[in-house]
Amino acid sequence: VKFVYDFTEGNKDLKDLLGGKGANLAEMTNLGLPVPPGFTITTEACKVYLESGEEPAALRDEVSAHLAALEEKMGKRLGQADDPLLVSVRSGAKFSMPGMMDTVLNIGLSDKSVQGLAKQAGDDRFAWDSYRRLIQMFGKTVLGVDGELFEDALEAAKAAKKVTVDTELEAADLKKLVTKFKKIVKTEAGRDFPQDPREQMDLAIKAVFDSWNGDRAKLYRRQERIPHDLGTAVNVCSMVFGNLGPDSGTGVAFTRDPASGHQGVYGDYLQNAQGEDVVAGIRNTVPLAELEQIDKKSYDQLMQIMETLENHYKDLCDIEFTIERGRLWMLQTRVGKRTAGAAFRIATQLVDQGLIDEAEALTRVNGAQLAQLMFPRFDESAKVEQVGRGIAASPGAAVGKAVFDSYTAVKWSRSGEKVILIRRETNPDDLDGMIAAEGILTSRGGKTSHAAVVARGMGKTCVCGAEELEVDTKRRRMTVPGGHVVEEGDLISIDGSTGKVYLGEVPVVPSPVVEYFEGRMHPGADDADELVEAVHRMMAFADRKRRLRVRANADNAEDALRARRFGAQGIGLCRTEHMFLGDRRELVERLILADTEAEREESLKALLPLQKKDFVELFEAMDGLPVTIRLLDPPLHEFLPDITELSVRVALAESRQEPHENDLRLLQAVHRLHEQNPMLGLRGVRLGLVIPGLFTMQVRAIAEAAAARRAAKGDPRAEIMIPLVGTVQELEIVREEADKVIAEVQEATGTELKLAIGTMIELPRAALTAGQIAEAAQFFSFGTNDLTQTVWGFSRDDVEASFFTAYLEKGIFGVSPFETIDKDGVGSLVKLAAEAGRETRPDLKLGVCGEHGGDPESVHFFHEVGLDYVSCSPFRIPVARLEAGRAAV
Ligand code: PEP
Ligand code: MG
Repeated sequence: VKFVYDFTEGNKDLKDLLGGKGANLAEMTNLGLPVPPGFTITTEACKVYLESGEEPAALRDEVSAHLAALEEKMGKRLGQADDPLLVSVRSGAKFSMPGMMDTVLNIGLSDKSVQGLAKQAGDDRFAWDSYRRLIQMFGKTVLGVDGELFEDALEAAKAAKKVTVDTELEAADLKKLVTKFKKIVKTEAGRDFPQDPREQMDLAIKAVFDSWNGDRAKLYRRQERIPHDLGTAVNVCSMVFGNLGPDSGTGVAFTRDPASGHQGVYGDYLQNAQGEDVVAGIRNTVPLAELEQIDKKSYDQLMQIMETLENHYKDLCDIEFTIERGRLWMLQTRVGKRTAGAAFRIATQLVDQGLIDEAEALTRVNGAQLAQLMFPRFDESAKVEQVGRGIAASPGAAVGKAVFDSYTAVKWSRSGEKVILIRRETNPDDLDGMIAAEGILTSRGGKTSHAAVVARGMGKTCVCGAEELEVDTKRRRMTVPGGHVVEEGDLISIDGSTGKVYLGEVPVVPSPVVEYFEGRMHPGADDADELVEAVHRMMAFADRKRRLRVRANADNAEDALRARRFGAQGIGLCRTEHMFLGDRRELVERLILADTEAEREESLKALLPLQKKDFVELFEAMDGLPVTIRLLDPPLHEFLPDITELSVRVALAESRQEPHENDLRLLQAVHRLHEQNPMLGLRGVRLGLVIPGLFTMQVRAIAEAAAARRAAKGDPRAEIMIPLVGTVQELEIVREEADKVIAEVQEATGTELKLAIGTMIELPRAALTAGQIAEAAQFFSFGTNDLTQTVWGFSRDDVEASFFTAYLEKGIFGVSPFETIDKDGVGSLVKLAAEAGRETRPDLKLGVCGEHGGDPESVHFFHEVGLDYVSCSPFRIPVARLEAGRAAV
């Protein structure tokens, strides 16, 4: 294998091997752009090193050969005493990990060659400053010396001279500082700063390899879900200097505005400076446009290069460049990061420019970005006082009164207050408070902390790890930078999309994208902004492309109508249990407690017209589109009073010798029906088989509602779905009864009803015997919530708040399997069942209605295994449409 590639040998598609930076340097080199010559050591070499603790044997020789070629090209040797070649050694992984890994500049300087550099540059100060930077960076990143020791020495030197800025130090001061720095290295690292340039380079390369496994880098990868075994490449690049005087400088540029996508001149320039100076903010940069006055030739060349890059990458690029004595050099480019809104705009702009086609445009955006654009947001024009910033853990804009414990959160929210729960970090005890709060703010913890994981699961706004906020839960207060104290009850605002924390109440405005989906804002109309226009067009691209249909999980007309506006092509799951709550709960209670046939009949008769009305409304809202109605699913006890409350009531009544026969009877029933494991107990089809008349009542209501809609010239398309089936026998019995009822209604109304009957596949046994089950089912809908629960043996109501944080931290999975489908486990059952089902019944319709139906990554999986549709909550429909389109490109 080859471990080292010259910049002339690589290209942009070799990111796995050369890292992002190396691949793009090679691409620019081959485009003929002015890149300082150099070479890249591959991620493969890094992997060998990380696995064995030693660099691959061939690496040293390959580096020697490439270094020799570089020296030949540059006409000088690394560290040559009278005219040294200097190089930078930089990390560069496949995915950008900003600031996480190491870089060493000015390698090749030594006590001898610093003189040569001074002579060549005609600038003593510059040479000694470069040398002190090398010792500082090398000491810190390669030899592990505490960086503050160098900083302190630098400050001391400035104080001694009574100056405030680095640049006011002269050559003689810097020379003294170099001596001081070398002493620090000697004491702290127990060795001299190496004078041999090759030794400097080799040690720096090793340090970059090692930095892959630094604590910060590991944490970053976990948070960003970057695999730990990729390794980093190392770029060795000849140095160019932006700090050689006023005709030198360094800058960053974007080929278009990363916030709006507009074309123009965006970037910053800093005269007479090196890259670090820009990042460190030591001096103020000027807008890139001013470079035109400073150095017109370089400016014009840069504009030309930016155009070349954009046309070549066909995307927004960001660029780092340096001008050395009037000569422009490109140090880096990459496809630039952008805001969610800009991603949509840029994608459509590039289509209009003819640079990319619709399919390519779809790859430039994603569902997470669209979801972000759909949250309400803080009014940007409002006056705000930002007091902190943490990790944007779960999007949304939340305003409320500060509370510092769960108990208060619950208490206040019950009395109608909006609260923000502020904790140092949260744990399972905070769950009630988190549910009660508008948003959650913590001062500790990252994207996988308890607060972040649980808040995301609940769809609640969360900012975590806002470290500059001092949270004092005992005294119920929080101190913000500058000393202001936020007391319990003070209003604060948090933005889960940006991580920003504000004092007071920041006004919230609805998302224009939601206004558009709701039909309250129209693309092309005067008030439609560019973002809405771009989203509108991208949705059209996705709809043209996708094969998957998208349905909604909805169980009332209001949700159904919203779902339609959002583009739903039917209802994939109507959970009828939601229709039995509220006032109707008592009717169900009577059904459960019925002692005689007559009593049971009576309560069923009372429920029937109510159910029928529900369905009529739903069919009307979804006229012409399929509506899948699932028969009653949850365990019976959910319709009975709470066992503890009831026991207390009975005990009280007993002690007071008051009449309590009814309560006693109820309590006995509650005891009889109590289950240790209700999720695995009497629910779904089991209930239908045990409570006579329950399912047939529901089927009758559906059939009569459909007939009524037909009589009203409507087009109802009902599908009846049986939950929690584990064996075909269960389904056969229910079907037989259902068919009978449907026939009766057809006869009585004189209407032919085409009601499909199908089942959910949400138990492992159902998936494993799908071939048999398909004999009795006209469609399958995968209930991936229960399927995940039963395949993993994870209680879906408990685990996310209890041990998932630990699992995520240990990297057992990168994301909750309840959020994104576990392809290997649960997913392979879905695939198997889909195939077996279609084997039995080639026209079997297949869908999914678990939460995964609206999750971007899962949508791609369902596309791949050939399902016909996904079904998700109304608000996730646009995301599902977009991702279904993306899955098809
Ligand atoms: C499922 O189990 O995936 C499902 C959709 O049903 P429910 O969430 O109602 O159990
Ligand atoms: Mg289920």
